[in-house]
Amino acid sequence: NKQVILKEYITGLPKESDLLVTTNNTISLKVGRGSPKAVLVKNLYLSCDPYMGYSMKHPDCDLHNPYTPGSPITGFGVAKVLDSSHPDFKKGDLIWGITGWEQYSLLTATEPLFKINHTDVPLSYYTGILGMPGLTAYAGFYEICSPKKGEYVLVSAASGAVGQLVGQFAKLMGCYVVGSAGSKEKVDLLKNKLGFDDAFNYKEELDFNATLKSRYFPEGIDIYFENVGGKMLDAVLLNMRVHGRIAVCGMISQYHVDQLEAVHYLTSIIYKRVHIEGFVVSDYFPLYCKFMDTLLPCIREGKIKYVEDIVEGLESGPAALIGLYSGQNVGKQVVVVDHD
Ligand code: NDP
Repeated sequence: NKQVILKEYITGLPKESDLLVTTNNTISLKVGRGSPKAVLVKNLYLSCDPYMGYSMKHPDCDLHNPYTPGSPITGFGVAKVLDSSHPDFKKGDLIWGITGWEQYSLLTATEPLFKINHTDVPLSYYTGILGMPGLTAYAGFYEICSPKKGEYVLVSAASGAVGQLVGQFAKLMGCYVVGSAGSKEKVDLLKNKLGFDDAFNYKEELDFNATLKSRYFPEGIDIYFENVGGKMLDAVLLNMRVHGRIAVCGMISQYHVDQLEAVHYLTSIIYKRVHIEGFVVSDYFPLYCKFMDTLLPCIREGKIKYVEDIVEGLESGPAALIGLYSGQNVGKQVVVVDHD
């Protein structure tokens, strides 16, 4: 059983060398009789998500299963059931949920596992657009941003797993949408493939406030979907419209800094009457069926596009995961363990 192991809890930015690909042959390919609700799976596709670097440094991470040095890291993935004592899953079922970064995992279903019922779309989609990041975009945009036709929307980390969907939801709603991303290639993708009205490379901007005010939002921003934090949030606060909404989904620029960047313009929240709300996707898992009913037809009809960045083999996993923190991924980062 090939596995990706966390060597030690880390400090600072995660590095590829913090993870080790190794082989452990102790797993039994049967669920033991004394393990009720256990599911033995063969992992197919693994999702690289920004929170995972956070779990590498925090033994007390309260968002997901904490990582244990010497054990495989965990994350969202798509897998095939090989054996099960769980009443909801049987041999041959395809599932998505929290699994191990290894070829085979024995899951005890303490974390939610979802059965995959629609296989006319690529299975890898259940790590992204039809999985946790997709639901994040859906819940954050529709439940928290209360969007209305014609509103001005800014999305940061816009070409990533969550951002690319938020922008397209906003377009479907009839909003004006601008995305920020970290390279020319990503900016082109946003404008030419994903249907954003405009996009810019934040790494080339010296003054975010001036950029937003003069070039993209002369009338101000109604909705900001926050994925990055730091200076971008500050500049956005200066450019919000009255009764604007900010969904705080993530702050990737702050996850691995020694000192959190200060936010200076919080007073804007008062006089602009801005609603700011943080959220965690697991609170919205009960919306999953509604989300699927909305999204699947959009994918099938080509109304929503989806960009994945797929690498082959568990050996490629550490580099793919660490690449999130320097923006190497173009679209949703997926690791293929096996195709079936
Ligand atoms: P992405 O697919 O967007 O990958 C991460 C991207 O973040 C990189 O490609 C890079 O893009 C950008 N990035 C990395 N470092 C920085 C930095 N210092 N400053 C600005 N941008 C940076 O990830 P996801 O779409 O999966 O996640 C987006 C955000 O949503 C993250 O903050 C994540 O933690 C959060 N999230 C929150 C959830 C919740 O429940 N609240 C659930 C899922 C995700 P670029 O090249 O554009 O810089």
